[in-house]
Amino acid sequence: MLNRLTISEVTAKVSRREASAREVTQACLDQIQRVDGQVKAFLSYDSADALAQAAAIDAAIANGANHTDKPLLGVPIAMKDVLSVKGQPLGCASKILEGFTSVYDATVVEKLKAAGAIVFGRLNMDEFAMGSSTENSAYFTTRNPWDTSRIPGGSSGGSAASVSADECIASLGSDTGGSIRQPAALCGCVGLKPTYGRVSRYGLVAFASSLDQIGPFTKDVRDAATLLEVISGHDLRDSTSIPQPVPHYRGALTGNIKGLKIGLAKEYMVGGLDPEVKASVDAAVKQLESMGAEIVEVSLPHTEYAVATYYIVATAEASANLARFDGIRYSKRVDGGNPAELYKNTRGAGFGPEVKRRIILGTYVLSSGYYDAFYLRAQKVRTLIRQDFDKAFEKVDVIVTPTTPTAAFRAGEKSADPLQMYLSDIFTISCNLAGNCGLSLPCGFTKEPKLPIGLQMLGKPFGEETLLRIAHAYEQATGWHQEKSPFSK
Ligand code: GLN
Repeated sequence: MLNRLTISEVTAKVSRREASAREVTQACLDQIQRVDGQVKAFLSYDSADALAQAAAIDAAIANGANHTDKPLLGVPIAMKDVLSVKGQPLGCASKILEGFTSVYDATVVEKLKAAGAIVFGRLNMDEFAMGSSTENSAYFTTRNPWDTSRIPGGSSGGSAASVSADECIASLGSDTGGSIRQPAALCGCVGLKPTYGRVSRYGLVAFASSLDQIGPFTKDVRDAATLLEVISGHDLRDSTSIPQPVPHYRGALTGNIKGLKIGLAKEYMVGGLDPEVKASVDAAVKQLESMGAEIVEVSLPHTEYAVATYYIVATAEASANLARFDGIRYSKRVDGGNPAELYKNTRGAGFGPEVKRRIILGTYVLSSGYYDAFYLRAQKVRTLIRQDFDKAFEKVDVIVTPTTPTAAFRAGEKSADPLQMYLSDIFTISCNLAGNCGLSLPCGFTKEPKLPIGLQMLGKPFGEETLLRIAHAYEQATGWHQEKSPFSK
C-alpha cells in the first residue's frame, strides 16, 4: 500500500525508517505490473534502475539524510516523455525520436534528484504535447483510471493517470495550453502550472517556448507545494527563467482564507458547460465564501478569442521548434538520396497527423503575406488577454473557473474533429497566453458514471502562494482528494 501514500507521508515514513525507499519504489513497480496493462500510463520504465536509485537513497538515509534537508526523500516520481533524464529514453511519444536516449538531466530532474527523489518511467502523452486526450501518442492511448473507456485528458495524460492509479507518488508534466490542469481535472488529481519563468525549461523538449511550463501532478495540494518548491528557481541555462527567490510554499498553507478576494469570470460560466460541472463549481464557490472569502464578479472580455489566438501563437512557435527534427540530428532517418528528400522522408514518416497539421498551420501563419494578418494580430490579442487578467487581478487575489467544460469524454469521441478537441481547452488556454499561474484540484464527481470534476484557480504572476493557500483550505474542508480511482489499491 506504500504506493498510495502522498509525498509528505512517504518522506515522513522513510525518514523514521518505517519504510525504505526501496520498499516504496517496489510498491509502485508492483502497482504498475498490476494495473498498467489497463491504464497504459507508461511508455516504458526501468525497474532495475529505479531500484538502484532507491538503494542509493537508503544508503544516504543510513548516513543520516532526512526529509528536512531532502524534501523528496525516497519518493518515486515519474516523468512525462518530454523531459530529459540522463541515460533514459526521450521520445515525446513520437516515432521521430524512437530510440533516442537523453544525454543530460533537465534542470528540474537535477533538482528532484538532489531532493532525494527516485526519477523513473516515461509517461505517455500526446505526440510533442499536442492534444487533449493522449490519443495523439504514436504508441497507444492512455486510459482514464475512473473509466477505461474514457480518455485521461492530455497532453500529459500519462502523468495524470499514473498518479490517480497510484502507480507513482507524484509526476511531472508540461503545460502549454492546459496540459497539466486539464488531465489533472479529468483524472481527479492536483495539477499546477507555474507562472511563466518560475520553473526552468532547460531539458524540456520545446513545443511553444513562450507558453511552455513544467509543473507537478500530485495527490494533494501540500504535495504540489512541496514539488513546486523543489523545481522552481532561476537557471542560467534558461534565459526566460526569472531571478526571483523561491518562497517556502508549504508555509503558505495556513488554512485561513478569510478576506481573500475570489473572482468569478462571467465569461467562463456560459455556453457548453456541462450542468454537473457547473453545479460542482457553483458549490465550490459557496464553500469558499462560507470559509470567509469574498466573491467578486470579474470580466475577462477577450476570452472568446483565446483558442484562436493560441492556435496561431502555439503552432507558429512549434513549426520553428520542430524544425530541428530533420533526420540529421537525433534519431530516426529515412534516406532519400539527397538532403531535401532525406528531410521530407524523415519528417513524413516520423511525425503523426496532428503534429503535421500544426507544423503546416504554423508555417502558414508565419509566411510572408500572412504574418501581419495572423501572427502579428494574434500577438496583439495576446496582449489584450494579458491586460484582461491584469485588470481583474487589481480587484481579486485569484479567479475560480471550471477547469474543463465537461468531465472525461470517451476515447474516439473527438479524435475525428480537431476543432472540437481544441475547444475542450477553452478554460485553460488564456492562463498560458497571459503567463500567470493556474492550478486544478478535484471539486466533485459526476453521478453516472462517477468521473472527477476539476476546479481551476488562476493566480497572479508569481501568486502561487495565494493559489496554494486557497486550494489547500478548500481541499481540507471538502476532502474530495480522498476519493480514490478503482485502480488505486
Ligand atoms: N491541448 C492543447 C494543445 O493541444 C494544450 C497542449 C499543452 O498544453 N501541451 O495544444
